[in-house]
Amino acid sequence: MDSKQQITALREELREHNHNYYILDRPTISDYEFDMKLKEHQALEEAHPEFHDPTSPTLRVGGEVTKNFDTIQHEHRMYSLDNSYSKEDLEDWEKRIQRILGDVPVEYTCELKYDGASLSLTYESGVLVRAVTRGDGFQGDDVTTNIKTIRTVPLQLKGDYPPKFDIRGEIILTLEGFAEMNKERLANGEEPYMNPRNTASGSLKLQDSALVAKRPLECLLYNLAGENLGVTSQIDALDKAREWGFKVPTVAKLCKSIDEVLQFVSYWDVHRHDLPYETDGVVVKVNTLRYQDELGYPSKAPRWAMAYKFKAEQVSTVLHKNTYHVGRTGASTPVANLEPVLLAGTTVKRASLHNADQIEKLDIREGDTVFVEKGGEIIPKIIAVDFTQRAAGLTPTQYATHCPECQTPLLRKPGEAQHFCPNETGCPPQITGRIQHFISRKAMDIEGMGSETVELLFKEGLIGNYADLYTLTKEQVVPLERMAEKSAENLVNGVAASKAIPFERVLFGLGIRYVGETVAKKLAKAYKNIDALQQASEDELVAVDEIGQRIAESVVQFFAEPKNVEIVERLKSYGLQFSLSEEQLEGQTDKLKGQTFVVSGDFEKISRTELKTQIAANGGKVGSSISSKTSFLVAGANMGPSKKTKAETLGVPIISEEDFLKKV
Ligand code: AMP
Ligand code: ZN
Repeated sequence: MDSKQQITALREELREHNHNYYILDRPTISDYEFDMKLKEHQALEEAHPEFHDPTSPTLRVGGEVTKNFDTIQHEHRMYSLDNSYSKEDLEDWEKRIQRILGDVPVEYTCELKYDGASLSLTYESGVLVRAVTRGDGFQGDDVTTNIKTIRTVPLQLKGDYPPKFDIRGEIILTLEGFAEMNKERLANGEEPYMNPRNTASGSLKLQDSALVAKRPLECLLYNLAGENLGVTSQIDALDKAREWGFKVPTVAKLCKSIDEVLQFVSYWDVHRHDLPYETDGVVVKVNTLRYQDELGYPSKAPRWAMAYKFKAEQVSTVLHKNTYHVGRTGASTPVANLEPVLLAGTTVKRASLHNADQIEKLDIREGDTVFVEKGGEIIPKIIAVDFTQRAAGLTPTQYATHCPECQTPLLRKPGEAQHFCPNETGCPPQITGRIQHFISRKAMDIEGMGSETVELLFKEGLIGNYADLYTLTKEQVVPLERMAEKSAENLVNGVAASKAIPFERVLFGLGIRYVGETVAKKLAKAYKNIDALQQASEDELVAVDEIGQRIAESVVQFFAEPKNVEIVERLKSYGLQFSLSEEQLEGQTDKLKGQTFVVSGDFEKISRTELKTQIAANGGKVGSSISSKTSFLVAGANMGPSKKTKAETLGVPIISEEDFLKKV
């Protein structure tokens, strides 16, 4: 055997042992034997660098250092999940699904919701080429080097895997592994880590991959993304992924009804404590991938999946004092300042009280002992008062009457839960909040500037709105506290560089109420430039796909305010992007303007996703269910019979894939 054959054979053998040990939990050799073989392999590789292999098991020990993690665009967006908490929530969800799919039997795959850090892995020809954190769902950080050290992430797949695909999973630390890490830290006189989840998540961004390799991290996989994956259901996908070499927990179960789903939930609500890792709920997914496709992604979360949250952990503690926080939109939120208490691994000092109604409903008073719960949200909430502990003489809570920041009387619009400070142009947190939003990463992403800088510039009277940023000079900035020649220069350069930020992000940055990232993208695409958007009426806006009344009103209101128009005009004069670029305009037309399409069934020439993209690119709207407002039903093979009947009853024309392609 020559050295090349020797290396390859040993590599194969190590790979197999890895799989047996980490994925199947069935090692066939001792740890010692394994280590010896690994050392031998390492020595061979060192002697023969020409046989380097990006999937070598020796990469598991790490060593490569990453200084900066590159930002990578996800080829397939990573979505979050909608949450449900009761039988009713799930039944409502099923109704929404049935409305779209028609009266077809729907099956559900139930999986556990692993509580860690989510990750997308890309495989090409069976080789792991990239591992990217979820980030904002559109783009994340390239953490490939670190991920390669995690034994449960296969570097080379087995079996009949598709040529190219992404797979999503969760990086977790087992409870045992976590406890061991802490034991070691304590022994070294270090502070213990708080909880497995944050520790797992923090591990992904360690610069030294050898440190990552030392942590007992695991990767549990749950979703495939890509084209032509050769599977037709979620449960198949899980089975296949397992065959290819991934660690996919076997608790996943196919359920024929919501009742069966609920049985799965109640079983695991109790038995999850027997699992070696933390879970915070169950994820229910429509099993048939074709249905998933049809249900689609109305926003941040797919319509075909739902998280069912286990009841959160609770503790009781004393509420000392209520304070009020005013944000960028002027909305005020009451905050309970608590006696610090340990909850689900973190120390909690504050909790949200939501609004005046909530305080009144629960009769929460300063001095009360309250029950605090941590759900999915970052800020814990108060769920009840422990009346058995109430001391005599506590006074009912009066909601603040004035803005704590600018002393303007707070207002509350009929039908709205929140009190707000109406002093939009004079209330400091509103002014700085708008500017902070404008410079934030997802908006103008101005480098060399953070939230504190904004506050400082505002305090010094150098800026009063975001347009003022563009007239700042280095000379003005240098004398400020904690500023230096270099940082002032960075700031001014960062502002100048932001003039190249594309229109949709500028639009998002303006901070129009209810215009989030996704809505800004939709509006930019639909109107192509700010002038057209500014002139749009409420009715026109509502006609745009996924733009509702509330958003439409808010956009019109924004442009009805002369101060806003003046600021936008100023921004224009500084050269910011207020229209789509040539590149973005390419392939876009108005051909389908004012028309709504419902897409159903399987297509031959183009995928359903592509079809929907084409509708939107040509100015049309994609509807989810057939109504009198639907212009056309684009019907593919295997379309549900109820859709057809409904279209016929309402007189909605049914067209084929070819008919549609002719239109565009
Ligand atoms: P949330 O962060 O609460 O919006 O929940 C969505 C996240 O749950 C996803 O981004 C995944 O990281 C995570 N997750 C954990 N287990 C699963 C699972 N079995 N299926 C889908 N997502 C899961
Ligand atoms: Zn105020």
